Amino acid sequence: MQDNNGKAQKKPKLALHWQILIAMTLGISVGMLFSSCLGSSNGQVCRILQASHINIDTFAWMGDVFLRLLKMIVIPLIFCSLINGISHMKVEQLGKVGLVTFLVFKISMLIAAVIGLFYVNLIQPGVGFDLSSVTKVSVDHLAVHGHENFLLGIIPPNIFYALSQDNQLIQVIFFALLFGIALVTSGESTSGISKAFEQIFNIMLRITHWIMILAPFGVFGLIVKTVGATGLAPFVSIGKYMIVVMLALSTMLFIITPLLVYFVGGMNPIKFFSGVKEAMLTAFGTSSSAATLPVSLDCVQNNLGVPSSLASFVVTVGSTMSMNGAALYEAVVTLFLAQAYAPLIPGIDLSLKGQIFIVAMVLLSTLGTPGIPHGGLVTTTIVLKAVGLPIDAIGLIIGVDRILDMCRTMTNVTGDCAAAVIVARLMGGKDIDLPDKAKKEIDEVKEENEMFLETSK
Ligand code: ASP
Repeated sequence: MQDNNGKAQKKPKLALHWQILIAMTLGISVGMLFSSCLGSSNGQVCRILQASHINIDTFAWMGDVFLRLLKMIVIPLIFCSLINGISHMKVEQLGKVGLVTFLVFKISMLIAAVIGLFYVNLIQPGVGFDLSSVTKVSVDHLAVHGHENFLLGIIPPNIFYALSQDNQLIQVIFFALLFGIALVTSGESTSGISKAFEQIFNIMLRITHWIMILAPFGVFGLIVKTVGATGLAPFVSIGKYMIVVMLALSTMLFIITPLLVYFVGGMNPIKFFSGVKEAMLTAFGTSSSAATLPVSLDCVQNNLGVPSSLASFVVTVGSTMSMNGAALYEAVVTLFLAQAYAPLIPGIDLSLKGQIFIVAMVLLSTLGTPGIPHGGLVTTTIVLKAVGLPIDAIGLIIGVDRILDMCRTMTNVTGDCAAAVIVARLMGGKDIDLPDKAKKEIDEVKEENEMFLETSK
């Protein structure tokens, strides 16, 4: 493939998810070696390791570097993703369609997040979870401050201060929302800024892509650190967490989505699934809603017969703003980790009120989730921070994130296609008259997203 400057880019020899899987296996083996040497230096290998001063820290730094890079990119990525997403959603130009689309997105994401929480409450994967390795990083500073002042707390008294803090992401989102809305309502006079944000967003996506290239090293370091300190116990319990995510995603994908398509969208679910199967498979293979966009559009327009401008609008905006799978996943991860950390961190709120807070955070943060591989993992850090959980815990789940990402991306993309069917029905089956400028923008977004289809292979 060619990059933006026309230079040929080398393709990685092995797909990233295989590299991550190999790194995970190696990390488990090396970690088990260290854990078997803990407290004793009997074996020959242990003695050699000790003599050559090779220990867990020799590798753990790779995980720390990776986590630091993720933290580095999260604010600029989300800030630009949100503003870019809103500037493509010209509600004031599109009036009713814009509003209906936004509501359909948010209601289905709300349902998805609630389903995720339902399964975590039912199966309780975090209860009794062994956190001894990750909690070595002290959790004292993580006392939760309650959500009573939540509304006041999301308004940044100083946006530059909020931008410089890694625990004020909600304030950053709030400001970015206002900024985006102000930008679209200013019309032509600020179109240069909209364009600039779109370009900066592409730069941030590129940096995120580079960071993800380091993921195998990061996963290796994080897993050596975890398994080296505790053995395999956390990975056995992680199986329960994976089952919860898969069960919840299947419920959303194969029960709720067809029900919505049938009752609200007025379409036979069998017709729907056979029309979007290509998009579902592409999403599963690429783990990227953005990369799948051209395929989703094709399916929605040509197989499901959604009028073309309406399909373009709903599916394009949906590829960044509508993420049923990501919302469900973020809710599951947060409540799972909250259950696991509850005995250690004072004030973690697992009550209904606490869970409503998690859902609110999830709905806010998914507005800025980019449709790229592991995009949801990056934005999960926002929700974890807001709830008062340490983001280091991500180290435990990142090793199994790729397979979950494939499944949640499939749920995200199917949700976008379902939203197009539903909005089309709610709008009386008529197409919308998109302004030429909006049509041009949608074409540009389609072209940009094709790039990801290549890079995420
Ligand atoms: N990979 C997902 C997508 O592109 C985002 C996520 O990580 O949840 O839709």
